[in-house]
Amino acid sequence: MNTQVVRAACPHDCPDTCAMLVTVTDGVATAIKGDPDHPNTAGVLCTKVARYLERTYHPERLLYPMKRTGEKGEGKFQRISWDEALSTIAKQLKKIAERDSRAILPYSYAGTMGVVQGESMAMRFFNRLGASKLDRTICSSAGGVGLKYTLGAKMGMDTEQYEHSRLILIWGGNPIASNLHFWMRAQEAKRRGAILIAIDPYRSLTAEKCDHHIPVLPGTDAALALGLMHLLIRDDLLDHDYIEKYTLGYSLLKERVADWTPEKTAQTCGITPAQVDMIAQLYGQTAKRGDPVAIRVNYGVQRARGGGMAVRNIACLPALVGAWRHPAGGVLLSSGETYPKQEQLLQRPDLMPKDRQQSSRTINMSTIGDDLLRETSPEFGPAIEALVVYNANPVAVAPESAKVAQGFARENLFTVVLEHFQTDTVDYADIVLPATTQLEHTDIHATYGHLYIVANSPAIAPLGEAKPNSEIFRLLAERMGFDDPCFRDSDDDLAAQAFDATHAHAIHFHWPRLKQDGWMKLSVPDAPFAHGGFPTPSGRCEFYSEQMKQHGLDPLPAYLPPYESAASAPELAAKYPLAMISPPQRNFLNTTFVNVKSLRDTEGEPYLEIHPADADSRGINDGDMVRIFNDRGSMVAKAHVTANAREGLVVALSIWWKKLASDGKNANELTSQRLTDMGRAPTFYDVLVQVEKA
Ligand code: SF4
Repeated sequence: MNTQVVRAACPHDCPDTCAMLVTVTDGVATAIKGDPDHPNTAGVLCTKVARYLERTYHPERLLYPMKRTGEKGEGKFQRISWDEALSTIAKQLKKIAERDSRAILPYSYAGTMGVVQGESMAMRFFNRLGASKLDRTICSSAGGVGLKYTLGAKMGMDTEQYEHSRLILIWGGNPIASNLHFWMRAQEAKRRGAILIAIDPYRSLTAEKCDHHIPVLPGTDAALALGLMHLLIRDDLLDHDYIEKYTLGYSLLKERVADWTPEKTAQTCGITPAQVDMIAQLYGQTAKRGDPVAIRVNYGVQRARGGGMAVRNIACLPALVGAWRHPAGGVLLSSGETYPKQEQLLQRPDLMPKDRQQSSRTINMSTIGDDLLRETSPEFGPAIEALVVYNANPVAVAPESAKVAQGFARENLFTVVLEHFQTDTVDYADIVLPATTQLEHTDIHATYGHLYIVANSPAIAPLGEAKPNSEIFRLLAERMGFDDPCFRDSDDDLAAQAFDATHAHAIHFHWPRLKQDGWMKLSVPDAPFAHGGFPTPSGRCEFYSEQMKQHGLDPLPAYLPPYESAASAPELAAKYPLAMISPPQRNFLNTTFVNVKSLRDTEGEPYLEIHPADADSRGINDGDMVRIFNDRGSMVAKAHVTANAREGLVVALSIWWKKLASDGKNANELTSQRLTDMGRAPTFYDVLVQVEKA
């Protein structure tokens, strides 16, 4: 028996990017575990990825290229050779590109977070082709932009420091389900005496275990942050020296928050004035004593109309109290821009044909439902004629799902999907290409939740005829006649190009050594903004942002009510009185893992959490099947009557494959394509619905 242990990285869209060890015996992966030596992973994988072998060797893995034989959406296919698949795709793309290459659209997101199998060779291909560009907004762009206006970059605290914090605000996230290794640090902090406060409309698994849970109404987080700033200023719980030296616009901020009294804040957020005061006092007094106060803000807060501003307002808090002075103080949304990524080198935008560089077009992935249904016009440009989908499952994930499916069903749309399984999106493909999983290819990972680079070496040979995304785009480039030398770069070449080793943060980056070691930490100071140095135009934390003014935005922290709320749409709220959110189910990661039986069995079936008062008034009992609906669509689910959903809120944990639900629908039937205030992102948690017994 030949047994070896291979170093790997978890590829999924999760801030933790775990370092993994895969045991391989005679070419078969037999065990997977977290690397005990990796400080963030600490030997622990979440429940999902602990089943990664079940997913890798799943009997329904796509192992061969296929072409469609039934109607679009029916999911009927026939096996073909790679040669036929590649020839068919190249022929179609050439034909469309001769008319207008912008009619071709790549559609991808974070099905793998890997640099090599993500946007490297794929982007070279689409740039060289002159395809439309994709605005990758579906998850994090609203918060990312809000953070950048305020702090200058997607950077913040080191997750490893949270265990030393004395007070942690866990804002808009459920880390037990989706940021497990931060939660381990938070628990350690709690054991050492820290106070944990969860701010979340939903009493999640995490909120249950915190000292306090503040159930704000969805989309009102920006108002709560304004109310906290009001109290910090009113009660002089400030670090005046830090404000003076390292912030911009304090006096304007003071004026702006003057009327955000605890009463007004509480009324806006659907909580009590005492709750607003309690958070402000704990946060401000702890900081005033010189103890570190920390915020872990997550992407839940930015999935409503004012989502960018919500993150911006929250990111102002640490500078007011001088929390950045401590390694265990500050805020973290994303650490993504701590990495000196070499995107230009990897993606080669210069490959775009010269004439196309002047006339390129960008399509927002969050409005794919509308855009697939648009005709050719001077404003829009050519109708979309070809879609190449990889690392994504838009038919289940994109908002206003009925429109998305209608677009994918167009007979005059040529669709190619690279996938592991026959997802809802694959059902609409003309050509399906089998992609390798993380155990079968090379990759390199930055993260958005810690500060390590993590390497992934292939543990096993590709199953069936599956190929890495990078290889598929290399082969397609060859068929298209693209002979630029960069299309001959190997996966190791791409990995070596991932980060700039001349940058101070990645000064020790060397791919061959990293492959051996498995991971390395970036070289960054423990308290990145202890002495200012924010990467904003002023070098300060910008309470006032001239950039925002120039971009047509309010330059000061503000509050925008949700599109769909009693405050902004009273008629709609009369018809659809319940707010709905659809945060991640613990055993699923977006739509990944929904088809892994052991995990799906744990989750059971799609269900809706509804407060007892809202259930009673509708004659709904626990366990009843209910119909959730609004003007965009409907879905059915089993009612879980529970006070975990606050009154006026229903929670549809997600994201189910539509085809695995009894009615073939999921929560995205109800979500809208309206965009956030910043970052052109979707508003998944800005939704009003009605619920009735099915
Ligand atoms: S999904 Fe997240 S917590 Fe789970 S193994 Fe991957 S990186 Fe770790």
